[in-house]
Amino acid sequence: MAKKISCVGAIVLVAVFFVGSAYTLVTPQWVYQVSLQDEPLGFVGDLDEYNAIVKDIQTRAETQWECDLVMNERISASKVRMWSPRFSSPTISAGIEAAVTYKTKGWAIVINRDIAAIVDKEQTATDLLEEVKAHYIRDNKNCSLLSVGLREDVSIESVAITPEALSDKEDVFSMLVCGQAENKTYVVRKGDSLSGISRSHNVPISVLQQANSIKGDIIQAGQVLNLQSSKTLLHVETVEEVSTSETIPYSVQYKVNPDNSVRGDVVNVSGVNGRRSVTYKVVKVNGQEIRRQRTKSAVVKEPQTKVIFTGIGYWSARPTGMFRFPVNGGRISSYLGEPRPNGRRHTGVDIPNPRGTPIYAAASGTVTTKARVSGYGRYIVIQHSDGYSTRYAHLQSFANSIHVGSTVVRGQIIGRVGNTGHSSGSHLHWEVRRNGQVLNPLDFFRK
Ligand SMILES: [Zn+2]
Repeated sequence: MAKKISCVGAIVLVAVFFVGSAYTLVTPQWVYQVSLQDEPLGFVGDLDEYNAIVKDIQTRAETQWECDLVMNERISASKVRMWSPRFSSPTISAGIEAAVTYKTKGWAIVINRDIAAIVDKEQTATDLLEEVKAHYIRDNKNCSLLSVGLREDVSIESVAITPEALSDKEDVFSMLVCGQAENKTYVVRKGDSLSGISRSHNVPISVLQQANSIKGDIIQAGQVLNLQSSKTLLHVETVEEVSTSETIPYSVQYKVNPDNSVRGDVVNVSGVNGRRSVTYKVVKVNGQEIRRQRTKSAVVKEPQTKVIFTGIGYWSARPTGMFRFPVNGGRISSYLGEPRPNGRRHTGVDIPNPRGTPIYAAASGTVTTKARVSGYGRYIVIQHSDGYSTRYAHLQSFANSIHVGSTVVRGQIIGRVGNTGHSSGSHLHWEVRRNGQVLNPLDFFRK
């Protein structure tokens, strides 16, 4: 009985084996179809193979771009049944690589709501802003930093971008510090000057000349100028406390020498500069000082006034040497007696000097005229003793102490050289008269 049973079992086993084999041959297999955006690419045997293909492609791209990436396209593997499938990993891999695009997470530096640059890491963006601030901080023992900040509203925000949109840290730093180039042009109008355009667009003349191949300052109406301007994106405001020591210049006082036998100037007391220690609060924007406020000031040493005794002893005895030259330096551009355009002859000498050059009283006396007229412009007449008078014309300004009737001493500043009245160019017109008669001022300076 037992033998019969085992025989039946063997037959059943053999039958199962045959039926199983036939089933495998005629029944479809489970495989995975890989698709990109629902477009079939091919088949793989199992999910591990599919995952390996995708991971390999992504790893290679991340190595190339040096950042974490996300694929934009949808790649999927779906289970399907198939008779004798043909597997095609290399084709699938090539198909994905050819079509796939990526996005990554970037960190945008946002200035006043505009994205200025995108970098790979949040830390990179934070570091950049700190480095831009540090760029404008001075390291100086006489200077301590009170505060540093950005004038703009700046934030760092995460954004999804293509890896090509990421910027290098160095490039972003130089853009933040040097500004962003702007393609701006200007069409020259009638009456424009290069210096005027330079001022109104805040571009140095040399930059305009170079960018537009201009020699000198000749421009023509209708000409299109490249302004080469750049827009500063960040304004770093620093507030510093600066301690410094400053000179207090001594003043000069002229006095008539009581000994009227003395000629010329004698220093009675020599001048010594004083010193003060000063503390300023200095506000700068991108390293440019925009405001300075004195917060502390203490005199360390008082200056000593220089006293000059001016000698008038030789006045009437010997005219030569009685006058001090009315300006320090300068040449004579027009001599006494030279014909003038109006047909008359020159009544004095012209001494060109820059506007604002101090004019000194040639000798002590009394101011008899301080006026402004069309010919002389602003002018002063000083009456000296013995009928002599001196006249100073075309002044830019009068010294505050000068009034009709005021007494001046030799060497006192009476005004500043200018170009007022009938004058071409900044110069002092100087006359010497005696009892109304015109004399040659240079006669008083001959040996
Ligand atoms: Zn003159």
